[in-house]
Amino acid sequence: MSKDAFAHPDRITASRWITVLVRQFPELRAELAATPRRSGAGRRRDGADRHGPSAPLRLRVSDTLRDITDGVVELEEAVHDRLGLPPAARGTVEVRLVRLAGLLERVEADPVLMRHLLDEVSAMARRCAGALGDAEPVVRLRGRCPLCASVSLRAFPLRRAVLCINPGCRCPHPACGCHADRAHRHSWPEGEWAELSAGGGIALEEITAALDGRSAAPAVNR
Ligand SMILES: [Zn+2]
Ligand SMILES: [Zn+2]
Repeated sequence: MSKDAFAHPDRITASRWITVLVRQFPELRAELAATPRRSGAGRRRDGADRHGPSAPLRLRVSDTLRDITDGVVELEEAVHDRLGLPPAARGTVEVRLVRLAGLLERVEADPVLMRHLLDEVSAMARRCAGALGDAEPVVRLRGRCPLCASVSLRAFPLRRAVLCINPGCRCPHPACGCHADRAHRHSWPEGEWAELSAGGGIALEEITAALDGRSAAPAVNR
């Protein structure tokens, strides 16, 4: 199989993460607007801070908003630079993300750039979810990983993928993201679930139910 055949799942994963970010970023902005503004009135006469826990939360949300805004601008610049495109036009975070999604086919031809983009968008989406107070939902799957035989398969509905969470698990394809570094896990995007189901002894319906949030199995911690 050619190298490109293995890059394809990365494009699907990148597209999922971008979709998650486009959906979550406005929620983050709304969260900031809903948090009481810290002002002089927030201090009691004895000097204690009346807002207590809301101030750190607000700081965390505003830090995240700023970092993601900067991160998306930098990522789009890096992609344009590497692809030899003219500098990106101005735009909101959401506009820039949609434009990036439109470039994924070209990014895919450059595995190093695709890896960078994946690292960035997945980290930003997780950070966004973290600041919103919801960890990414995870559903444990029955059956064993067809690569390492561990009971380590988890479905991640947000990114519509199944991952093997065993840190030592590697597939036989050196170009796959699971070989990139220790932080990456092998994942099976939608197009590979039938194969995974056959190899792991899991019903295909269990995988699709878990990813659609219809699973009876409880969400677990990674
Ligand atoms: Zn595995
Ligand atoms: Zn792999």
